[in-house]
Amino acid sequence: MNKVFDSQSPTELEAHLAPYAARSAHSRGRRYAEPAPSARTEFQRDRDRIVHSTAFRRLEYKTQVFVNHEGDLFRTRLTHTLEVAQIARSVARNLRANEDLVEAISLAHDLGHTPFGHAGQDALNNCMRDHGGFEHNLQSLAVVDELEEHYGGFNGLNLCFETREGILKHCSRENAARLGDVGERFLSGKQPTIEAQIANLADEIAYNNHDIDDGLRSGLLHIDQLAEVELWRIHYAQAVDTYRQLDGRRMIHETIRRIINTLIVDLIETTRRNLRLAEPVSPDEVRDAPLLVAHSDEVAAQAVQLKRFLFKNLYRHYRVMRMTSKAHRVITGLFETFSQDHRLLPPDHQASDAAVQTRLIAHYIAGMTDRYALKEYRRLFVMDDD
Ligand code: MG
Repeated sequence: MNKVFDSQSPTELEAHLAPYAARSAHSRGRRYAEPAPSARTEFQRDRDRIVHSTAFRRLEYKTQVFVNHEGDLFRTRLTHTLEVAQIARSVARNLRANEDLVEAISLAHDLGHTPFGHAGQDALNNCMRDHGGFEHNLQSLAVVDELEEHYGGFNGLNLCFETREGILKHCSRENAARLGDVGERFLSGKQPTIEAQIANLADEIAYNNHDIDDGLRSGLLHIDQLAEVELWRIHYAQAVDTYRQLDGRRMIHETIRRIINTLIVDLIETTRRNLRLAEPVSPDEVRDAPLLVAHSDEVAAQAVQLKRFLFKNLYRHYRVMRMTSKAHRVITGLFETFSQDHRLLPPDHQASDAAVQTRLIAHYIAGMTDRYALKEYRRLFVMDDD
């Protein structure tokens, strides 16, 4: 191997990992064979490719809950993604799982998200209902497998199997059947690696907490309402007890950091217990075991309560619903207009085959940032816009 730096070998970099952790050296490999990297592990290379991708940069201008132009301090898909990676890495390090793989999966997990958050995804799925539908997890996989155009030898980023497996969090049986190896577990009922399981729960911890913060910041939620949420009530009382008098925003942050900490510590402790019981000695034994990365029953119930609260009070707030309705109109308007006349599409999104054309339109719309989608909508529907 051509060593550029006097650095640790990939095997040395992963020597501290637990037996159940995924190791680069034992990866099921990439779709197109490539020489091994010299100064980093295979999973570090995946992470680096993701960070350098176009889809990753677009995350900055895609909605999490609040549309990008609604305020500078709300989470975007990008800052959400970074928070997921932070939480997932903390958990992985404690469990001696592969931090690099967890980071790669976390950074890629939302690459396939449409503009305008879940509203955009629902609208596009509805538009595609007679054409195989639209799932954002599947789209994230399409981005890293096909849509990124960066490398000389292949389309996509040519990531390792384990990273791709982790990105595909959910998948219908129908889609799983045509995906081959990476879809297999949805047919056989197996689990993904411990790293994929960690990234999945880190996603939930991140959005449950930052959505409280953004909800309060926007004024759509009020602290008094949150008293019905046990996780909030316990940790808010602790923050008030410690500080008595603090201005509103600091007290909110002191509460949320405590909630995040409780969730992470509970996740690590419960997972350790599950690992002691199942004793997996390889990633394949993790795949065969029941889900290992989990919260305790008590905390899981509290997290569900918080999620229900957010659903009812934030995601269904009339001001968020107005955005949702607008997003539906924009996405559906774009889709229908392009479907009726594909000559309106930029040439590299045009195809002669009808089925291919429909999927290309979905790829084009899914790839748009919020503001690009709005601009494109204006160009098509407003007479004095060009
Ligand atoms: Mg996410």
